[in-house]
Amino acid sequence: MNQSDTNQSLPTLTLQDSREKSLKRLHPWVFSKAIKHVSGKPSNGQTVSIVSSKGEWLCYAAYSAESQIRARAWSFDKNELIDAAFFQRRIARAWQLRSELFDLEQTTGLRVVAAESDGLPGVTVDKYDNVLVCQLLSAGADSWRNEIVSALTALFPEHSIYERSDVDVRKKEGLKPVTGWLHLPRDNGEVIIKEHGMQLLVDVMQGHKTGFYLDQRASRAAAKRYANAKTVLNCFSYTGTFGVAALQGGAESVTNADLSELALSTALKNAELNQLDLSKIENIKFDAFKLLRQYREQGKQFDMVILDPPKFAESKAQLMGACRGYKDINMVAMQIVKPGGLLLTFSCSGLMEDSLFQKIVADAALDSKRDCLFIEKLSQDSDHPVASFYPEGSYLKGLVCKIY
Ligand code: SAH
Repeated sequence: MNQSDTNQSLPTLTLQDSREKSLKRLHPWVFSKAIKHVSGKPSNGQTVSIVSSKGEWLCYAAYSAESQIRARAWSFDKNELIDAAFFQRRIARAWQLRSELFDLEQTTGLRVVAAESDGLPGVTVDKYDNVLVCQLLSAGADSWRNEIVSALTALFPEHSIYERSDVDVRKKEGLKPVTGWLHLPRDNGEVIIKEHGMQLLVDVMQGHKTGFYLDQRASRAAAKRYANAKTVLNCFSYTGTFGVAALQGGAESVTNADLSELALSTALKNAELNQLDLSKIENIKFDAFKLLRQYREQGKQFDMVILDPPKFAESKAQLMGACRGYKDINMVAMQIVKPGGLLLTFSCSGLMEDSLFQKIVADAALDSKRDCLFIEKLSQDSDHPVASFYPEGSYLKGLVCKIY
C-alpha cells in the first residue's frame, strides 16, 4: 500500500526556523536543507504533513526520499484528503480550463495537465487526439499512478493512455524509467493532431518529450502570419511543423534543418499530409550551428530564419555557457537574414529569464552589426499556464525580430 486513505497520522516533516516563507506563498517545493526533522519514516512518494519550526501546519506534500527537492506540496488545505478524488478534482479542473480556451474540434493536441502549474507537481498529461500521454516525474506522482490513470479514463472514455516517464530527472527521485501502455494499448504510437488548420504527425512512443512540442502552437501560428512570400530557414526543425505553418502562410520555400533522421522523415510526411508543394521544401540533416556558418560563408540569405534550439541550460551552473551559445547562434542567424527580413528566435531554458534573453539577442545584434527591432514577443501557449506562485512554470520565450 502506497498511501493511507486518511491524512490523520501522516509522517511529518518539520522545517528549520523561518523556512516556511515560500510555502506560505504557495510555492510547492521543500528543499532538503530546509528540513530540521522527519518523523514517522515516510516511504518514497508517501504523503506527509509539513509543519513550521513552531509547529504550525503548512501543507500536505509528497515525500521524495532521494531528491534535493525533498517534498512537493499537494494541498495547502488541511481539510483536503489526498486520495483518488483529489486527483480527479485537480485533473478535471485542468481539463475544464483547456476546454474553455480551445475549440476542441480544431485543436486536438493539448497539454491537459501542466504539473506544478495545475497543482499536480510531477504530473504531465498531454492529449493527442484520442491518445493520452502521461509523464510521472516525481516520487509522489509515481506512487499515485493508478489513481491518475483512473481519473483520466473516467474523464476521457475510449482514450488510450501511454506512459512516457523516461526523463532523466526521475533518477534524482530514485525512480527508474518507465514507458508503456497503461490503458487500451495500440499497435504503434502514431497519431495525427489538428492545429491551426494543419494536420501534424505525433509519435508518442518515439517522439521527443511526450511526442511533440505542443508549447510552440502559438509561435507556429505567428510563423504562418509572417511567412507570406518569404524564403524560410527553419533551424532545429524537429518534425518540420514551423515549416508546414510557414508554407500554409504562403512561404516561397522552406528549408528544415535538424540532426534527427526520424524528425526529418516525419517532416516529409507532414508535408505530404498537408498536401504541400514538395518542390518548395528541403529537409536537411545537418548541425544547425555549422549550417548557419556555412550559409554565412556562402553569402546565402533568407527572408525569415527560425531558431528553436533545445534547452542549453539544465542548471544554474550551465547558464553562463548557455548565454554564450544563444548569443553566438543568434548573431550568425541575423547575418543570414536578408535586410528587412525576420528572425524568430526562442529559448526554452527556464533558467533564462525573458529580460536576459532579450539582452542576449540585443548583444547578438550588436555583434552582427545589424539593426534589430523586437516586433512581437512569443511564449508557451495557454494550455501551458503559469501559476502565480510558481514562476518556474514560465520557461518558453520567443522574439520576432525585424532585421535591417
Ligand atoms: N521547433 C520544433 C522543436 C525543436 S526541438 C517544433 O516546434 O516542433 C529542438 C530540435 O533540435 C530537436 O528536434 C533536435 O533533434 C534538434 N537538434 C538538437 N541539436 C541540434 C543541432 N546541433 N543541429 C540541428 N538540430 C539539432
